Amino acid sequence: MLEIQFDPLPTAGDFFARCVTSIPPAGRHSSLLRIILKTGKKRLLFILNKLPASKAAASALVLALGALLGACGAPETTTQIGVYSGRHYNTDKELYTRFTEATGIQVKLLEAKDDALIERLNTEGENSPADVLILADVARLDRAAGMNLFQTVDSDALNQAVPSDLRDSSGRWFGLTRRLRAPMFNADLVSAEQVSSYEALADPSLKGKLCLRNRRSVYNQSLVAFMLDEQGQGATEDWIKGMVNNLAEPVFSSDTPMIRAVAQGQCAVALANSYYLGRMQAGDKGEADQNLAGKVTVRWPDPVHVNITGGGVTRASRNPEAAQRLLEFLSSDQAQGGYAAANHEYPLMGIGEDPVLQAWGPFQQAKVSAERLGELNAQAIELMAANGWQ
Ligand code: FE
Repeated sequence: MLEIQFDPLPTAGDFFARCVTSIPPAGRHSSLLRIILKTGKKRLLFILNKLPASKAAASALVLALGALLGACGAPETTTQIGVYSGRHYNTDKELYTRFTEATGIQVKLLEAKDDALIERLNTEGENSPADVLILADVARLDRAAGMNLFQTVDSDALNQAVPSDLRDSSGRWFGLTRRLRAPMFNADLVSAEQVSSYEALADPSLKGKLCLRNRRSVYNQSLVAFMLDEQGQGATEDWIKGMVNNLAEPVFSSDTPMIRAVAQGQCAVALANSYYLGRMQAGDKGEADQNLAGKVTVRWPDPVHVNITGGGVTRASRNPEAAQRLLEFLSSDQAQGGYAAANHEYPLMGIGEDPVLQAWGPFQQAKVSAERLGELNAQAIELMAANGWQ
């Protein structure tokens, strides 16, 4: 963006120009021509003591101003931030390119498994090249915050774009997309009524029909944390015991094979994250999986447990301002659709444009905050271990 302001006309003399971060009051230059050029957060203050005498002189002046502004803006166009991301989707990269085009800030991306990134950032300490850390699941965001890997960010844009229940109350991390963990069932084997709530999955009528992922999964830990918040410890323990009693198969180590098992009838119902079914139904994982996923129906409990992917500015960041701008960009309307749809996730608000998600219909989101789920994580893990969830 280029912005030129003309103050009172000049009287006489030469001109000077300097790069400033904020525009000083007119003061002693009030009788001169002040030109303020702005690109991003860089500004060039140009004081001109007389108007150019000819058109040629005016053009020369414009060229000179352009060059001077370039010099001012130079540090910003070469600003680079390091992003450690547990997400790994091609459309994410397109968004980073768009961010660079809009801001001049280069993104150096390192994608790896979430837990490995947390460990790496922790080991690197103050020397880490990462300015932004993006992780799947609030349990991991909370863990990284507990390890003091984030710094606090106070941004009106983020506070507005990210609902308060989907961000840390002290500004260390912000949700960027939503995913729902819910019953997915085979309608040939059970009715929608039998799986209409999380509690229903513990009902003895589903004995030998339920499939679960293991308790190491942070997705399950966050779900149990949600149940703890909803129902308290006693009811949550009974719920876990009931589900363990209903298992059709030993626990799975990931969601996708579990959804296939539902389609193939090894289990009648499973608890899985929405985007795994989304990828299969959309055909992202090939025709065979798409056909299988056609036999699986998702059922939203009321309310449904919502989890997030999110990010924060690292404590080690040398460019916290640029890092914050990336988070603001990813949470903005212009980026939200693409960021969520990349993985068949839900944007921060609404359902978005993804036809697969639209077909699943609306849902009632649980009121518990993501931050609270993080706080309850340790207790959730204990309860799972104590009540037979392998
Ligand atoms: Fe996942």
